[in-house]
Amino acid sequence: MKSYRKELWFNVPARREFINITPQVEECLKESGIREGLVLVNAMHITASVFINDDESGLHHDFDVWLEKLAPHEPVSGYRHNVGEDNADAHLKRQVMGREVVVAVTEGKLDFGRWEQIFYGEFDGRRKKRALVKIIGE
Ligand code: ZN
Repeated sequence: MKSYRKELWFNVPARREFINITPQVEECLKESGIREGLVLVNAMHITASVFINDDESGLHHDFDVWLEKLAPHEPVSGYRHNVGEDNADAHLKRQVMGREVVVAVTEGKLDFGRWEQIFYGEFDGRRKKRALVKIIGE
């Protein structure tokens, strides 16, 4: 069995953003040489997510509005976590959007459903953060 590991780095200038990382993950898969197996992609921070959904800007706007309703950034003082920091909402948003995805690898390709794409969801940006790509198989 082969095994491959890589970290993808991000430095999002805004507090929140969704980035389609499917091309980077496909590049990792190519580099790995693995044709049959599984790829795991996970955020390595507790204020960011990795998730699969549609690459459609209206939907991304809807996610952002929905997450702000569930866990508004302001008022910052409304959260117990925010003692010396202001990212309690980012922890909650990450929890809803998830930590990781697993995708099947078949014949050297990500075995997606029709509209599936992999996203890095940033909820507390403006600093360097990363996601892990781990691929196993043969
Ligand atoms: Zn925090």
